[in-house]
Amino acid sequence: MPHFELADRVKNLPPYLFATIDMMKQEALSKGVDLIDLSIGDPDIPTPEHIVEAMKKAVEKPSYHRYPSYEGMLSFRDAVCGWYKERFNVVLEPRREVISLIGSKEGIGHIPLAFVNPGDVVLVSSPGYPVYPVGTLFAGGEGYVMPLLEKNNFLPDFSAIPVEVLKKSKLMFINYPNNPTSAVAGSGFYEEVIRVALQYNIIVCHDAAYSEIYYDNKKPMSFLEVKGAKDVGIEFHSLSKTYNMTGWRIGFAAGNSDIIAGLGKVKTNLDSGVFQAIQEAGIVALNTDDSLLAGIRKTYQERRDSLYEGLQTVGIHAIKPGATFYLWAKVPAGFDSSGFVAHLLEKAGVLCTPGNGFGKPGEGYVRFALTVPVMRMKEAVERISKVL
Ligand SMILES: *Cc1c(COP(=O)(O)O)cnc(C)c1O
Repeated sequence: MPHFELADRVKNLPPYLFATIDMMKQEALSKGVDLIDLSIGDPDIPTPEHIVEAMKKAVEKPSYHRYPSYEGMLSFRDAVCGWYKERFNVVLEPRREVISLIGSKEGIGHIPLAFVNPGDVVLVSSPGYPVYPVGTLFAGGEGYVMPLLEKNNFLPDFSAIPVEVLKKSKLMFINYPNNPTSAVAGSGFYEEVIRVALQYNIIVCHDAAYSEIYYDNKKPMSFLEVKGAKDVGIEFHSLSKTYNMTGWRIGFAAGNSDIIAGLGKVKTNLDSGVFQAIQEAGIVALNTDDSLLAGIRKTYQERRDSLYEGLQTVGIHAIKPGATFYLWAKVPAGFDSSGFVAHLLEKAGVLCTPGNGFGKPGEGYVRFALTVPVMRMKEAVERISKVL
């Protein structure tokens, strides 16, 4: 019998820390436990009706059944530019400064292939989206962890990075509003990012998947709003979280034209773009009236308030989210992340995500997702209070 050995890049993937939790979850479900699952980073609210309707019409057009263009329909990229102008007052050139993506995860995973040579360093904020270190690894790069600590408001401290590392760095991944810490960044931070990037010639990849899920009417800013950002970086956006379209697979990157072109080169050789009917529905999504998004934000805000206040009451130190549909909380004394998750699952039938699964600096925290209705949220807090 032949033996098919996995490639080193796959063998060397970091351990999947959620595996044990996944098993425990399956076990609880098979026992018929009434599980309150606060571990899912996927909106429970369906895609708005007008977007679904646009898709139904678009899917019937035979011209859309053929290969799309690699970089996305010009009308889709135009809609992205319109959205950026309206939302951030940022002007983009649709032909050179925007590219469509098969979900932003696709672009984030591929960008290191375009710019990172074996041995190059990629600065990766952590805890964070696992695709940043994995995309780096697949390109042969070396990830350097920028820990996001509570004492720094979950922003990386560039002065803590050795100059030798900065000199070898080719690219950096940052993400605000942040998954999993829910932190938001302002212009002062982005100015520092641009200063470091210019000094050491580093490509900035800013992941803005949660820019529209914000609270208390405080709109997060775009990295591209800051002077000089377009000289050093690009921003990834996704229709997934903003319009409850995770299953549709559509996102985009915008910013520096050379970086966009590099990403485009990789994509031209690996995929054939986004189904045009989905792009047409994406255009309709991007033109959605803000009142509809305000309604979605209101729903999340009620859940946030309910969970945040509830956890405060039972004595769990939680970070009040300024944005995203996650809540980052410290585990009580005597537990580590995995131990606390297991405890809540076994004793309370409440599932959250262990912080160390997002990288070592997440140890000591858990992430709760606000993707269940307020009533269930209240019940989760009630159950947690009884097992502390
Ligand atoms: C959900 C998510 C994404 C990507 O979503 P896509 O569905 O691939 O567009 C990117 N970054 C972060 C931090 C996310 O949580």
